[in-house]
Amino acid sequence: MTHVFHRHLRNTPPVAVAASGMTLRDAAGREYLDASGGAAVSSLGHAHPDVLAAMHAQIDRLPYAHTSFFTTEVAEQLADELIRTAPEGMSHVYLVSGGSEAVESALKMARQYFVEIGQPQRTHFIARRQSYHGNTLGALAVGGNEWRRAPFAPILTPATHVAPCYPYREQRADETPEAYGLRLAGELEAAILAQGADRVIAFVAETVGGATAGVLTPVPGYFKAVRAVCDKYGVLLILDEVMCGMGRTGTLYACEQEGVVPDLVTIAKGLGGGYQPVGAVLAQKKIVEAMSKGSGFFQHGHTYLGHPVACAAALAVQQVIHRDGLLAKVRDDGIAFGQMLRDEIGNHPHVGDIRGRGFFWGVELVADRGSKAPFDPARAVNALIKKDAMARGLLCYPFGGTVDGRQGDHVLLAPPFIASRQDLQKIAALLAESIDAVTRAAAA
Ligand code: PLP
Repeated sequence: MTHVFHRHLRNTPPVAVAASGMTLRDAAGREYLDASGGAAVSSLGHAHPDVLAAMHAQIDRLPYAHTSFFTTEVAEQLADELIRTAPEGMSHVYLVSGGSEAVESALKMARQYFVEIGQPQRTHFIARRQSYHGNTLGALAVGGNEWRRAPFAPILTPATHVAPCYPYREQRADETPEAYGLRLAGELEAAILAQGADRVIAFVAETVGGATAGVLTPVPGYFKAVRAVCDKYGVLLILDEVMCGMGRTGTLYACEQEGVVPDLVTIAKGLGGGYQPVGAVLAQKKIVEAMSKGSGFFQHGHTYLGHPVACAAALAVQQVIHRDGLLAKVRDDGIAFGQMLRDEIGNHPHVGDIRGRGFFWGVELVADRGSKAPFDPARAVNALIKKDAMARGLLCYPFGGTVDGRQGDHVLLAPPFIASRQDLQKIAALLAESIDAVTRAAAA
């Protein structure tokens, strides 16, 4: 009997006891190849010596100091490093303990910005369906899965949801990708006008949709058109790169590939690579200036802001990524990985779509390839794949996103950047075995 309040209350997962490189081991001695970096967290794999050394040194020097009294050298160094490598225009870093805290902080920064500049009537957020931004109440409100919001709907911040960029299901046959992107930006504009152009705080979107969407990569020009719509109405653009940022798609920020700079960008997961809970919001100068010239105070805060050991871990992770040329590796090996997946499962009758960038790939499973009909959610295909893959020694991140208004089945692959081509090939082959075994049984 466990006293840990596990999320799934009817079953207890295996006990992890050790991890190194691409592999985790459980108490029964079983080994697992990490194909998802946890939940797209681990970028350097497990027990990287340089990160462990940086953490140990920080613990010996200064394990904790509260931000009401002090800043720390390591927090300042991390912020400098993040701004040095951030998209042009970002000026300040707000350091928190994870993704939901980062999103929550960004939503409040955006709201307070408008209060400071004399537009307090802006109270509404616009976000996208099939998105995930975290589980705290603000982040949940902008999140795009109705079934997640449902129990909490009466107590959520006001938010409207527009279509995600989801070409596999929503681009029309007679539409180019560019025309599709413009149509979506038009839908955003209509949603802003429906609320009242001066009532909207921000449009919130993952640059590359993650867990609940099975990796949704934007079509060319979509984010440029979105940025133009936001600028037209003075609406802020918040990009959530908690999952897709920090090198996961082959550039440090996924928005670099879209040619847009958001007003606020959230990061977490890959920032600390799993070594410590850490997240951040990067803000453009105008946001920080409005607060510094106005109230002089951001009305927010958490006890573990800028925790020194978390900052030391994040700084070491970022330094190793650059020192070891891992962004270029992710770009090159990511192309090869996509091809391996297409070779292994591209023709499988229950694989509807394979999409991704860098080391961030999604596989969408369908009951019928022709009609794209999802499996009956009662079949729990995604949960069965997770179980089957674990039995084969593979950790992947299957998820029930929302397909046609109900839960569908996706598998998310986000290996650590250190994965060798042999590791990637093994991931593709083991996943193919699992998909085949589970979907055949589900279709029978
Ligand atoms: N935003 C995105 C895009 C995410 O994928 C997640 C987590 O999966 C979050 C926010 C929430 O992060 P956390 O689980 O660290 O609170």
